[in-house]
Amino acid sequence: MIDNAVTHIKAHPNDTGLVYCLSREQCSDTAKAFNAAEITNHAIYHAGLSVATRNVNQTAWSSGRVKFLIATSAFGLGINKPDVRFVILLALPPSIFHYAQLIGRAGRDCAPALSYLMFTFGDRFRWYFLWSKEGNRAGYLIKFKNLWHIIHYALNFVACRRVLLLNHFNEQFHSRNCAGVLATLSHGCDNCSERKTDPVMRDVNSIAIKVVEICQYWETKNITCGRSFYQLVSILSGSVKNDRFKVQNIATPNYGLLKSRRWNRDLVGIFLSLLMSKLIIFEENHENSCTRLNTDSYIVLGDQHWRCSSPKFARLFMALPKNVKIPAK
Ligand SMILES: [Zn+2]
Repeated sequence: MIDNAVTHIKAHPNDTGLVYCLSREQCSDTAKAFNAAEITNHAIYHAGLSVATRNVNQTAWSSGRVKFLIATSAFGLGINKPDVRFVILLALPPSIFHYAQLIGRAGRDCAPALSYLMFTFGDRFRWYFLWSKEGNRAGYLIKFKNLWHIIHYALNFVACRRVLLLNHFNEQFHSRNCAGVLATLSHGCDNCSERKTDPVMRDVNSIAIKVVEICQYWETKNITCGRSFYQLVSILSGSVKNDRFKVQNIATPNYGLLKSRRWNRDLVGIFLSLLMSKLIIFEENHENSCTRLNTDSYIVLGDQHWRCSSPKFARLFMALPKNVKIPAK
């Protein structure tokens, strides 16, 4: 991840920016990595530093003596530096709301600015761990949904990112206007810039019902292993690995439902992230019942799985490439 950030900053040495990390430790490690790459025009800002040091570093950034700050997300509230040209996130924020706040610190002068979200899929476990200590199930579910909304956004290589972002805040925007912004403010989002045709919104509820059937089968058969996110992707894609769960997973109902060149594994992953964000499926963390040595994540039925079969709610839309087909029911 850091290599991409280094590449961007080396290509734009005079740009002012912000690099956001999840923790103080990640700030320190990131600063060391930039130094090793001979990028030294930065300073750190986080709550672990003394007030005096924070003030010195913030002033150095505000005045342009250092070009970018490596900070935790607390930095930036109340700061209105108009010429921030880039915001780089080096970890998954907990929600689209947090994400919008962070990237909104770039380009306040209406000149072009870039935002990058660089994360690992495993970042979610940090949030799970943090929230589980709060002991509030209802609050956890809301945070879980919000987290998977940003994961759905981050994994998505089909939908216009402006559409995803603005729809989240109940604002309407059509992707055809995304690249159109190119002429005036900046270029389109990465998804609109890199594709030749608009995606189409398709009702994927019938596939969601099949995923619910898989989870119900697991529970009926008391199957506790081989139920990770990636294993569910493999079951739907009909591409299980030659591991100890191979026979079990091939025997799962709806195995290979999305086995198609067009429904590649990444697209299946986007679809499942949508189901997570709607609480149709849910990811739990348990002690690994096979090894008993560590925790493992399991896909289970989500609290809202019934919606797929409810005449009132049985609609679930997702942006898909035009040539991707919904399997027959
Ligand atoms: Zn777009």
